[in-house]
Amino acid sequence: MPADLSRLASWLRCPVCSADLEPVDALTLGCVNGHRHDVNKRGYVSLLGGGSKHLGDTTEMLDARDRVLEGGAYSPIADAVAGAAGGGRVLDAGAGTGHYLRAALAALPAALGLAMDLSPQGVSRAVRASDRVDGLVADTWRPLPVRTGAADTVLDVFAPRNLPEFHRVLRPGGALVVVVPRADHLGSLRAAGSMLDIPSDKADDVIAASEPLYALQARESVAYDLALTAELAAALTGMGPSARHAAAAGVGTPAANPSATRVSVDVLRFAAR
Ligand SMILES: [Zn+2]
Repeated sequence: MPADLSRLASWLRCPVCSADLEPVDALTLGCVNGHRHDVNKRGYVSLLGGGSKHLGDTTEMLDARDRVLEGGAYSPIADAVAGAAGGGRVLDAGAGTGHYLRAALAALPAALGLAMDLSPQGVSRAVRASDRVDGLVADTWRPLPVRTGAADTVLDVFAPRNLPEFHRVLRPGGALVVVVPRADHLGSLRAAGSMLDIPSDKADDVIAASEPLYALQARESVAYDLALTAELAAALTGMGPSARHAAAAGVGTPAANPSATRVSVDVLRFAAR
């Protein structure tokens, strides 16, 4: 927990009236219009309000994500994300447990991070894992309770995208770093029936949607073969959006156990116009 809330507040605006939030006392943020928002004792704030229809990652999904990411299976992706990030303030939208944000901050020794996610458990883990990371529980699909121009970089790694809002919270010229799966990403796992199909050409869709707010600066493909254990295969299946659908459909265990799979993503870097 930071000594005071000013660093957390420096990212945030009131979800009710959009005025800047400032510390009111040790566990409260507030705006000039009298709206008050409690900060969790773990040091993050939920500005979700009511009415969000989206579900955050479950504890099981977060545990699976930790097993995959902290085990290094996606390290080349984290390296590419870190290489594309810049500036002193990095907002990770859909941060999960903050793995990619920590990778970016490791490459930017003076930078601060904001881990934003719908999952309080994910945000809590992200804040706990780095003393340079503050936490925000919010829904990417709604207007973001983040100050205009507060970020030098926005990260969006396998996460929902709100391109107009990301543009608003970026300073002019700031970087948007997007990671999307390619059509062959985790192909052998999907062929085994344990994951949802990934639409092809997602990067092209993002690039098309980025106009006219952003200029594409770099497009890097990161692709490699990953040896699988049964545990890693289960964690890869359990960490993503397929997990909830698979659970709902009563499936989730691969029919076959592929010994390897292809990791294949595009890392896009845009500049905010
Ligand atoms: Zn307010």
